[in-house]
Amino acid sequence: MPHRFDASASPTIRVTVLGSGTSTGVPLIGCSCPVCLSSEPRNKRLRASIAIELISDTGAVRTILIDTTPDLRMQALRAPLKRVDAVLMTHTHADHIFGMDDLRQFNYRQRDPIPVYGTASTLATLRQVFSYCFTEGQMGGGKPRLELQEIEASLETPFEVCGVSVRPLPVWHGNLPVLGYKFGESFAYVTDVSRIPPETMEALRNLDILILDAVRHEPHATHFSLPEALDTLRELKPRRAFLTHLSHDFDHYATTAALSDGVSLAYDGLTFEVTGSGK
Ligand SMILES: [Zn+2]
Ligand SMILES: [Zn+2]
Ligand SMILES: [Zn+2]
Repeated sequence: MPHRFDASASPTIRVTVLGSGTSTGVPLIGCSCPVCLSSEPRNKRLRASIAIELISDTGAVRTILIDTTPDLRMQALRAPLKRVDAVLMTHTHADHIFGMDDLRQFNYRQRDPIPVYGTASTLATLRQVFSYCFTEGQMGGGKPRLELQEIEASLETPFEVCGVSVRPLPVWHGNLPVLGYKFGESFAYVTDVSRIPPETMEALRNLDILILDAVRHEPHATHFSLPEALDTLRELKPRRAFLTHLSHDFDHYATTAALSDGVSLAYDGLTFEVTGSGK
């Protein structure tokens, strides 16, 4: 039996970047640029996702996943992830949802359905794309058991997951409204963003750690470019920032060396603890 998880105490929060890559992953299929040919592990990027482990005083662990990428199986093996207790979806582009079927191994291990949180429109798309998961039929180990949990795309409606307060962060991904998420008062994850409304900017000020989208050097219709991400960070002033959803534009070491103190590229396997958070 795992330790009982005491949701009343403030858990330690440990974040692991499962994937730091843009929708194609890096290396790109067929590309022979120096970054795609690089043997540096930090230039190999699976699709964008993080795991948030909540560790109670008794050592019990609960894991929240943000998005279920097409690389989820490899990400879970590599981390390694022993359990997934909840999933928060940012939006339903293929690079963020197409590994959702791999959750069934966690159903099998934990013998419970897994709650999947998203907006009404996100959940409607999941029901459509993964229709076999939500229709009666074949049982057994063949399909994941998921409980879709609707959340409001509003800063004013925080909700609790595994004993931690989570605040939805409405942002724009081109013309698509998507969500980032803030955990306690210290940490936020905002991927796939090209514009942050003023109210959400307020909720992102003075964080301990922020993970933010920066897809490439040149402007992009639906993502922050590196200069746009850096402008945003100069305004928000997190103590530490990591950039994610990275393309093959970026050599990890050359790019990070050119960034200012406190800002670096995320990389697959990056892990850190968030302090001063909790409820
Ligand atoms: Zn994406
Ligand atoms: Zn390349
Ligand atoms: Zn997207």
